[in-house]
Amino acid sequence: MTKAGPSALTVQGLGMAYGANRVLDGIDLDLPTGQVLALLGASGSGKTTLLRLVAGLLMPCAGRIEIAGRTVADPARGIAAPPEKRGLGMVFQDYALWPHLSVAQNVGFPLEMQRVPASARQARITRALDRVGLTPFADRRPSDLSGGQQQRVAIARAIVGEPPLVLFDEPLSNLDRELRETMVDELGALVAELNLSAVYVTHDHAEALALADQIAVMRDGGIEQLASPARLIDRPRTAAVADFLRLGCLLPAARGAGGGWVIAGTATALPAPEAGQAPEGARARVLLPERGLSLGAPEAGQASLRARVQGVQVRATGFALTLTVEGSTAPIRLVSPAPARRGEQLSLRFAPEALRWFPPEG
Ligand code: ADP
Repeated sequence: MTKAGPSALTVQGLGMAYGANRVLDGIDLDLPTGQVLALLGASGSGKTTLLRLVAGLLMPCAGRIEIAGRTVADPARGIAAPPEKRGLGMVFQDYALWPHLSVAQNVGFPLEMQRVPASARQARITRALDRVGLTPFADRRPSDLSGGQQQRVAIARAIVGEPPLVLFDEPLSNLDRELRETMVDELGALVAELNLSAVYVTHDHAEALALADQIAVMRDGGIEQLASPARLIDRPRTAAVADFLRLGCLLPAARGAGGGWVIAGTATALPAPEAGQAPEGARARVLLPERGLSLGAPEAGQASLRARVQGVQVRATGFALTLTVEGSTAPIRLVSPAPARRGEQLSLRFAPEALRWFPPEG
């Protein structure tokens, strides 16, 4: 049996406070080498604090951080390696390239900071530029390059020291939506090709789903769920995860007079929860996942709900409909090949086992 090498990053019981304000608590992570972990969460959930703890820009008050098998922070044992001793690569918001330096000088900058002799620098710069396909652009200024090429300069600079782990701090957050989608594709391809071990901070669920092998959904200084994108989509652990990932419509549910479940405040019946999914008590929330919905009369084994069309937008891929079901104002979005009129009632069909049940709000 071959023994696996050390993880790129291991975090155990990590805690952090600003004065009396605890902002991270009980964080556990284990990132295998060659994988990307996304830290995903709303503003204030603790993503940046966690990234800064890994980078060594902040020190934890509890727990332990290990990078490629080496403990870099452990307050109980008095270990607190500074950033320059952790050997990490960083990619910042907007890439933070120096406009007055050439591409090669930008890429070589971290080596200069580490006082690598000039003779050794050139070979490393050449290799980093080659790995990201930018060799012909070595003497250009960043402003002469496309957005995608600038992104590659930032990555070349992050990997020039051959780091065991690269940290991405919301690199795409200031780009407009369309550009971001293109850049996410390019970035994903490059990160996979370079076989990087990386931690990627974002508040954008689509970015996290597209790039990461594992996603830590963060909320109030804790990890709400840590799983692969496919697992998160299929089995969100809480309603908050389902909501944050925009998996679909969360409906309030209640036990009806006959003991079955209905949409709260209505007589609209919901299919019975699968075994093991049944919530306790008389109230619940149920996720109607958008990816499992289609329009039309239910087929054998399917369930359905009546939904009213609230909006229609023409798209290249069809008609983007916004619908609601009785008892909820939560929007349900799907693309239909056929047009529909605002106010029209349609049948939404789905597999009953696609529903996900959670405890009620509050
Ligand atoms: P995110 O990156 O997810 O937006 P942060 O890690 O920046 O979240 O912040 C987590 C919490 O820590 C927030 O409640 C924030 O107000 C608090 N916080 C962040 N930086 C400081 C600081 N320098 N001093 C005090 N509180 C801070």
